[in-house]
Amino acid sequence: MMTDRIRSFLETRRPEGPCLIVDLDVVRDNYMTFRNAMPDTRIFYAVKANPAPEILALLASLGSSFDTASVQEIEMALNAGASPDRISFGNTIKKERDIEKAFAYGIDLFAVDSVEEVQKVARAAPGARVFCRILTDGEGAEWPLSRKFGCVPAMAVDVLLHARDLGLKAYGISFHVGSQQTRMGAWRTALTEAADIFRTLAEQGIQLSMVNLGGGFPTRYVKDVPAVEAYAGTIRTALLEAFGNRLPETIIEPGRGMVGNAGVVKAEVVLISRKSEDDDKRWVFLDIGKFGGLAETMDESIRYPIRTARDGDAMEDCVIAGPTCDSADVLYEKTPYPLPLSLTVGDEIFIESCGAYTTTYASVAFNGFPPLASYVI
Ligand SMILES: *Cc1c(COP(=O)(O)O)cnc(C)c1O
Repeated sequence: MMTDRIRSFLETRRPEGPCLIVDLDVVRDNYMTFRNAMPDTRIFYAVKANPAPEILALLASLGSSFDTASVQEIEMALNAGASPDRISFGNTIKKERDIEKAFAYGIDLFAVDSVEEVQKVARAAPGARVFCRILTDGEGAEWPLSRKFGCVPAMAVDVLLHARDLGLKAYGISFHVGSQQTRMGAWRTALTEAADIFRTLAEQGIQLSMVNLGGGFPTRYVKDVPAVEAYAGTIRTALLEAFGNRLPETIIEPGRGMVGNAGVVKAEVVLISRKSEDDDKRWVFLDIGKFGGLAETMDESIRYPIRTARDGDAMEDCVIAGPTCDSADVLYEKTPYPLPLSLTVGDEIFIESCGAYTTTYASVAFNGFPPLASYVI
């Protein structure tokens, strides 16, 4: 959302070119909202959503832990002040030498979803704690992650038995219900499956400790979303239903929900044109597109709120596209986007809720365009 601090930064600094401005006060508020809504749950911020050093340092100082996917992200979290016991290596696809490096840094919590990955962890991080990720269908998520990560529950049992047999600590179950998950019930199905795995393994002498509830908490784009407190309530009920009074330790890994609404992209209109004299839609080309940080407009999945200084004027549906010479670089066409008729080349536009998955998705120099600049204030 546009905050007073972001507005005044833009007015006084007048940064050139497309850029993201992140307001740390909003990140702090989001962190406190998660902490207050889920006081018994540890928060592992998903670093990939926005790894700006200022964000990581703020969250580290507030007591957050970190979910990382590479040695580089582990180093970023360590540099931000997190101790190794506050860092998980949550990627299920790791090079064995990266597991070794992480273990040497003191990281002791690893995600797996296959026997093959367990074997790597057992060799490279002997005795470490592992949790097994289970598949979810991603239904209800605007940015689903299904299929690539996780295994079916029956296989998770085998994976964790294998981990125990190889000297690892079979620690828990994780899942990710899909990013920007607007169906709060999505956690219930996965928690029921997790509890079944806990029971099956208990019969085999393994007492799991932890359920990792993943990310998926939404941020507000064009449409309203339920509050974190509503998610917390639904999850708590589902936990009690699935586990009774033997509640496991829980963690969450919010990415989008932690930083999404904290950032605004400032961009500029480069061209407004039509494809024929009787074309009923104008094409509005911006100096930012899919390769400049707005990759999540792929399949028009994420619909960002766009503001201009002319929003009181009459509006007309437009096609919105980026500046590169790639035909995939169209943001909204199937569902056209209303913009003011008076919009003019050179106008600034403000794309809200861009704090998550923008800088990390920007390409380095496609067509010579620099990666998305970022200011954290
Ligand atoms: C990306 C990711 C997250 C963050 O997901 P959001 O939907 O942005 O909250 C959490 N956990 C894992 C393992 C991830 O890969």
